Amino acid sequence: MSRRLALVLGALALLGALLPVLTPASSSPTAISAFTEADPVVAGTARAVAGSPYRFATVLSGKPVRWNPCAPIHWQFRAAGAPKNGRAVVNAAVARIAKVTGTRWVFDGVVRSAPSTAWLPRSTSGIRPVLIGWTDAAHSDLLRGKPARVLGVTRTAWFGWRSNGVSVGSIRAAVIALDRTDRLPSNGPVSWKTVLLHELTHAMGLDHAGSSRELMYPVLQYGLRDLQPGDLQGLTKVGRRAGCVKL
Ligand SMILES: [Zn+2]
Repeated sequence: MSRRLALVLGALALLGALLPVLTPASSSPTAISAFTEADPVVAGTARAVAGSPYRFATVLSGKPVRWNPCAPIHWQFRAAGAPKNGRAVVNAAVARIAKVTGTRWVFDGVVRSAPSTAWLPRSTSGIRPVLIGWTDAAHSDLLRGKPARVLGVTRTAWFGWRSNGVSVGSIRAAVIALDRTDRLPSNGPVSWKTVLLHELTHAMGLDHAGSSRELMYPVLQYGLRDLQPGDLQGLTKVGRRAGCVKL
């Protein structure tokens, strides 16, 4: 999460804490929304770091902001720029996240658009499927200006309401931009599969883990081939087992 965004979210959290005092009981709901951009993932061998096994990207009134796991999550794929087996790797990663979270992902076809901020809706009337694909700095603001070692970036959009001091929100859209200029194997440690599992976990509402044992650590470790116990624990808490999200 960028420092600026962290400040915005921090300010929102503070506002939420103050509202019980400031807001009359009869107030009508106020629309709230935000984009959450995860810090880019890079490959490497970091020294072992102990820390939280998982973190939520946004917490409103004590609850993580997540998809409604009881409704299907629609997604689309950008075929242009994808490596050989790219589509198969994305399919496998989506299936894995769907299984872990108990969500149903519905494929809505191939598109030409590059995954960028422009894909994300600014209101719930403009909701489009999650877009996953390979692109580059020339075609996506998500990769523009990022260091060459960045492998992928995810941006999500959530929408919700604040009423009588209680805020509720739900993720409604996401884009995952993978850097097509990186040459990674399809599977195994530091592969497109592990990058996709990491980015899809961001798309489900999780931030980076504090522990270097997890796939959600900001540096993708060479020893990891799959989601780790903390990653799975976090995903379970934003999935179907945590109940439906009703706004
Ligand atoms: Zn990340």
